[in-house]
Formats: sequence, C-alpha cells, structure tokens
Amino acid sequence: MTPGAPVAALPPMFALELGIMGGPEIDHLIGLLAKLPGMGPRSARRAALKMLQQPEARMLPLAAALADAARAVRPCADCGNLDSQDPCTICADTTRDRSVICVVEGVGDLWALERAMVHRGLYHVLGGTLSALSGIGPEDLNTVGLLSRIAEGDVTEVILALGATVDGATTAHWLTDQLRPTGVTITRVGQGVPMGGALDVLDDGTLAAALRTRRSA
Ligand SMILES: [Zn+2]
Repeated sequence: MTPGAPVAALPPMFALELGIMGGPEIDHLIGLLAKLPGMGPRSARRAALKMLQQPEARMLPLAAALADAARAVRPCADCGNLDSQDPCTICADTTRDRSVICVVEGVGDLWALERAMVHRGLYHVLGGTLSALSGIGPEDLNTVGLLSRIAEGDVTEVILALGATVDGATTAHWLTDQLRPTGVTITRVGQGVPMGGALDVLDDGTLAAALRTRRSA
C-alpha cells in the first residue's frame, strides 16, 4: 500500500485490517458493522459478504428492520426499557405485580431476566452504575424516576439486580442509602452471580436462583 492510494484517508491500521477491495460502499458497510458489539473486522467482512451475495433476501429486509426500529423504539418514560410503545409493554401489562420493582443496570439485563421468566413485577433501568473510573456519578443514573415511582405508593419491594462487580456493589450500597427513607423493602440478588459477573451473560437457571435467593440489602 503506497501513500496516496484510495484508502489513505483511513487510519493505516484500520484500512489494512479491513482489506479494502470493493469500492467505498462496501468499505463503509464493513466499517459500520465492525463497530458493533461482538464484531471485529473479520466478522464484519463475513457478514457484509453474506448480505451482499443475497441483497434481496438478506440486506434489504435488514435495512428496513433497522430503519423501522430506529424510528419506532424509544426508552419507556416510566422504567427506561426500550419499546415501540410508551409506557412499555411490561409497564402497561396489568397482570404484572406492580408492588415489586427490579432495578437493573441496563436493558440487556432486563432482557435476560425476562428471557429467564424469573420476575413477574416491574423493572427500572438505571442506565449504568456508579464508576469513578468512567466518570459516572449519581446524576448520570435514572434514580429520580425510581424515587418518584416509589412515591406513588404501590411499591413495597425494590430488588437490586446489579452485577457482582465493584461498581455494581458500590451502586447497590449507594442506592440502598437513597431508598432507605422511603420505607420500602430493599433486597439484593443472592448467590450464583459470580464475582465480576454481569447479569446478562448468566444462564436462565442461575438468574432464577439469584433472584430466588435475594436477601435484605
Ligand atoms: Zn416501562
């Protein structure tokens, strides 16, 4: 590769990694795919190639699904879950137990708990955990919304289902202090969440056990 070649605008390592050979549209597609979680340049190339070989069957439906989701999906004003309706499907479900709110770090954790079918109450998505390293402070977490939901009076228990990380534990302690004056029962998920573990990578059985063995915070 010589200076002045068409790929010179990209950082040299990035361009080399992608192995550019098919025009700017393909480069752009692979570059965007490579930024997705779990994807690197190699899997981005494979995914792009698969789609490009069957544009009608694979690519156009995906493009339409992406546009539809981007247009329709928003965070639920009550709990922070992502849904195309607001309040979200879970908050709007009158068969769910409205006295128990399970607090999770992110929507991925909510999805994991729903997949495992271990919680029939409502959720509250914090949007992160306190982290001195990442500069995430209390004002960055969705706690005002949680306190106002509790103030409405239906909630009797708040389950803190945060990951077993230092930041998760710090956040759980801090939240417990914030929630204590409300008088609700505060519990934390119990055994089975390995140290350093995030909730959304646990299998359904482990998640169920963690929720069943919750203990007072
Ligand atoms: Zn909701």
